Formats: sequence, C-alpha cells, structure tokens
Amino acid sequence: MSINHLVRENILRLTPYSSARSEYEGRAEIFLDANENPFDTGYNRYPDPLQRELKAKISALKGVAPEHIFLGNGSDEAIDLLTRIFCEPGVSHVITLPPTYGMYRVSADIADVAVKEVPLDKNFQPDVEAILAAADSHSRLLFLCSPNNPTANSFALEKVKRLAERFPGIVVVDEAYIDFSGQPGCISLLRDYPRLVVLQTFSKAWGLAGIRLGLAFASEEVIALFNKVKPPYNISQLTQEAALKALENRQQQQEWIQQILGQRALLAQFLSGLPFVQHVYPSDANFLLVKVDNPRGIYDFLVQRGIIVRDRSRVALCEGCLRITVGRPEENEQLFRVLEAFGLKRER
Ligand SMILES: *Cc1c(COP(=O)(O)O)cnc(C)c1O
Repeated sequence: MSINHLVRENILRLTPYSSARSEYEGRAEIFLDANENPFDTGYNRYPDPLQRELKAKISALKGVAPEHIFLGNGSDEAIDLLTRIFCEPGVSHVITLPPTYGMYRVSADIADVAVKEVPLDKNFQPDVEAILAAADSHSRLLFLCSPNNPTANSFALEKVKRLAERFPGIVVVDEAYIDFSGQPGCISLLRDYPRLVVLQTFSKAWGLAGIRLGLAFASEEVIALFNKVKPPYNISQLTQEAALKALENRQQQQEWIQQILGQRALLAQFLSGLPFVQHVYPSDANFLLVKVDNPRGIYDFLVQRGIIVRDRSRVALCEGCLRITVGRPEENEQLFRVLEAFGLKRER
C-alpha cells in the first residue's frame, strides 16, 4: 500500500534540487560544474549527497539495505524532515507521549503543526487504546521514544507492534538509547510495517554528538521522500569521515557501552542507599531517573559544586525527579561524594 495519502501535496509535487555531479561520477576527470575551488584542500569538493560509502558500512552493521537508510544532521534533522514531509500546517497533527523528548514538539511548533499529547501510563508505557482513540485521518506522525527520555524505560514490543499495525499515520520509534538497552529494538519490524520509521544516532553510544549524525531506517518510499526534501549536502565530509573511522573501531564502542552499563549499576546502587532518594527507576539508557525528597535543593547544591544534572521535577509524571547521565568513573565518584555531603548537611 502506498503512503502517498499521508504526504503533503506540495512535497509530492516538488521538483528536488539536482546536482549533475552524480550522473558523471567515474566517467569524467574534470569537474567544472559546481563552482568549487579547484585546488585540493581535502575538502574543496562537495561531499557525496547520498553518503554511499558510509551507508554501505552502516548497512553491513545493521543488516539493512542502503535504500532503507537516511542519514541526517542529527536525529533532529530526521524529526524535522518527517514533520515537514507528512504534516500539513493547521490541518494535520502529530501525537506524542509525554513525558518524552522535547524535539518532537519543537519541530511541530516550528512547522505550525498541532501536537496531541497522550500521556504514558503509570508504568511509563504507551496507552495503546487512548492513542488509537486520539488518532484520526489527520494524525500523521506518532512519536514513540524507546528507551524513553527522560523515563529511561523501553516500551513493550507488543505495544509498539499493535500501534504499528493500527495507527493510521507514520509510527516513528526513536531508538537513540537502544545500545544501552537489553531489548532488541525495532529494525527487524521494518519488513512487516511500511509506515514504520526507526531513528538511531551517533550522539550517544558512539560518542560522536559533536559530528551531528542521525540515522533513519524505513521503507524505500519514506527514504525517497527524505532524500527529496533534505538539503543536498546535509552531511559534511568531515562528519562522513569521522563516522567511517568510528565504524572501523566497533570494539571501542562496545567497551564504552560495557563501562557505562557497569557505572550505571554502581550509580543506581549508590543512589538507592541515600536517605533522601525515594526511587531509582530501572534504566535501559545511559542515564538514571531518580525521585528525591528535595529536587531543587539537590540540583542547586550540585550546581554550586560544579556538577550539572537535569531537573525534571516539574514535568508531569516525573514530579520530584532528577535525570542523571552516567559519567566516567571519576565523575560518578565525585557525584557520590557531593551527594553524601548533601545528606550530611541535611542531618545537621
Ligand atoms: C539524545 C537524543 C537524540 C539524539 O539527537 P541527535 O540530534 O541525533 O543528537 C534523539 N532522540 C532522543 C530521545 C534523545 O534523547
């Protein structure tokens, strides 16, 4: 079944920017077509607009054909493009499940697209029936963040599948934290669900937030739409090179993940023992959501000692909570010491 009925009309009609370069690659030696500086700096030429070498490597790693992969300037670009491809301002809406990642709403707000919020249930799981009840023919995107930021849990795969089957629009599963999760992730579902989009990123487990590289896995039809709408050279040469280098050293990434998981367990154990900590939520991510007696007091105490965490205490369903990223061992030890000092101060 085509997804054309979900695509904005102007996007269907659009003639994308075309560069002549790709047509002649390997068949010519002198390129005087793009007004580049001819002197070699290593970066004087425009980068490959389809990042073919990088996609081939990612394809091998993920077991997904390159035609099913889009690379964006961070996942944030993929989120923004999805909003602009599928949502008609003032007519369509997207559905988010708060508490969740803030960019879904920001992208919708920029595009003047309404946001319907269907809160997670008390176990931080999607309320499938409530989501389907909120959905109609104007629902274009459903954002599922799993593992979810800031609640740190994964969504039950059965719920994701039911939504992928029954939601009338595009179902986006944001897997920014999937490498820290015990759960398998949704890439294997793509075959069965043509309206599913899976987002991943180089910003977390790969340690490359600074290069800005996000991935979207989807049907060829959705990927073709991404490619039609994206800026032609959205992934710089520098970024493509840095990502290729990282992919050559997969073992480093695996080591970081193991260290972070070890530190996450230590941090959870330590926090659970503090008298002012009410609850440490289970985590499938590289951060912990922690419910405490006096979130603002602790936050300020940490800031005064040079440690910044995220105050989520005024977010619905996260009342009283701080979100703490797992740091390097010495950073976590420093955090332990300062939190112990906070406890002592309180006793006095
Ligand atoms: C950190 C994060 C991302 C990463 O976004 P990039 O633009 O790829 O850096 C995406 N989604 C969620 C939920 C995140 O927390």
